[in-house]
Amino acid sequence: MSSLRERYTAVRARIASACQAAGRDPASVQLLAISKTVPAQRLREAYALGQRAFGENYLQEALPKIAALTELAIAWHFTGPIQSNKTAEIARHFAWAHGVDRLKIAERLSAQRPAELPPLQVCIQVNVSGEASKSGCAPAAALPLARAIAALPGLHLRGLMTLPAPLALGRDARAPFHELRLLLEQARAEGLPLDTLSMGMSDDLEAAVAEGASLLRIGTALFGARG
Ligand SMILES: *Cc1c(COP(=O)(O)O)cnc(C)c1O
Repeated sequence: MSSLRERYTAVRARIASACQAAGRDPASVQLLAISKTVPAQRLREAYALGQRAFGENYLQEALPKIAALTELAIAWHFTGPIQSNKTAEIARHFAWAHGVDRLKIAERLSAQRPAELPPLQVCIQVNVSGEASKSGCAPAAALPLARAIAALPGLHLRGLMTLPAPLALGRDARAPFHELRLLLEQARAEGLPLDTLSMGMSDDLEAAVAEGASLLRIGTALFGARG
């Protein structure tokens, strides 16, 4: 069983070599530690190793962890699906939300973002081809949604996110990431100032980096298998 320090170092090394293979600056790729089911004390250890951004999927689990770690300068990302009855708490306690996939949710997050906080940073989740999950908007809906979200005062639209199905044998790991990247390029071509591609997890981070990921969401490779 390797230690958190060893895992953290190994993940950083994987990112560095993926960047080198892709001819990219490692500083252009942010590591988001996905800490769902991981106790607060382990997050504290990861923080001591230099990790600052953590992603949580379940609000009920996240709120006590956020409260337990208030003295740390953590950027909290909400990475789970967002239900209407959760938007107020997400708007209040998080810096980012990655699972925005419809306007109604975006409008609620914007309206409920406390005025004393900077706008909530959001990514639109897109259900690109080969994806099993039911969340995420259709690729054709992504740009109209991006235009509408860009106009909401409580939100700062940063980019696009995708969560591909687990990699099946023989499937091209890069295909869904490539599709998301093309969508981001289209959005930028029409003047939307998006800078974030939230894609790539423990098993496919190399493919995501090769396709331009700027934010990797890594759980298992950092914290071990979830129980
Ligand atoms: C769990 C999760 C991850 C991390 O997946 P690993 O395979 O454990 O790295 C990333 N993104 C989202 C949205 C998740 O729910």
